Amino acid sequence: MDKIRIHVFHCGRVCVSPYLPFGGKHCSLMKAAGLTTRKKDRIWLPVSAYLVEHPKGKLLIDTGWSREISPGGVYDRMAQIHHMSFPLYVTNQGEIAKGMAVNEQLRTLGIRPEDLDYVLLTHLDCDHASGVKQVKGAKHILVSEDEIACAGRHPIRYRASMWKGVPLSGFSFENTGIGPCGKSFDLFEDGSIQLVNIPGHSDGLYAVLITGDGGRYVLLYSDGGYSSGSWRQLICSGIATDKKNQIKSLEWIAKMSRNKNCLESLANHDPDVIPHTILL
Ligand SMILES: [Zn+2]
Repeated sequence: MDKIRIHVFHCGRVCVSPYLPFGGKHCSLMKAAGLTTRKKDRIWLPVSAYLVEHPKGKLLIDTGWSREISPGGVYDRMAQIHHMSFPLYVTNQGEIAKGMAVNEQLRTLGIRPEDLDYVLLTHLDCDHASGVKQVKGAKHILVSEDEIACAGRHPIRYRASMWKGVPLSGFSFENTGIGPCGKSFDLFEDGSIQLVNIPGHSDGLYAVLITGDGGRYVLLYSDGGYSSGSWRQLICSGIATDKKNQIKSLEWIAKMSRNKNCLESLANHDPDVIPHTILL
């Protein structure tokens, strides 16, 4: 098989209370949402998206921030509130410099949205789904059925207008024995791209496990953890739908990340990860 190329992009930054990514098992929603955190104590984290050039097609994993939150390329309070609602703005503020929106970075590589075979949304939180309209010309846009249901149950956490008019295709995880709950979806039915359910942060969240020739793999665990410290020390994020499942998912990420076949294991918002390209 030809090589798989994975491009790690940063599509802007998100500003949150440190309790949101690292609040732990007993963090209250108030704390995680930043209601008790002073402005100066908030932290900025990168917002990642990934382009995977696979012999069977081009995949985009997550979409980062939409240009709508920063029309001028700088922090814009009113534009953010309009795009994501006031409660979401209170919890996570964002900005995206010119040229950094996902469609802008793809254009630089000569890739149009309609050239993408799949857009894979790991979950529907705003910093992952915000940019989906910018790539809505892609051939397939996949999100798990469990996540669509989760978004329906939490209308304040999730902003459905971000994907209004976008043809999202829901898929169901299958009992494959892969992952913390034994559930995954084998995109090409050859084991090379497994969407592995890692519930906890949200119900339908998945990691993308990309396996190349010889069994070496890259694990993109989205918000299953916020840095390698999350799985090394089993630190839950403050925002979660099920903390017990979150620990189970972190334990699985830890096991996979420590395996000798693991080339890289990346969290979406890890401040230590810089944009780069991986050849698998
Ligand atoms: Zn996120």
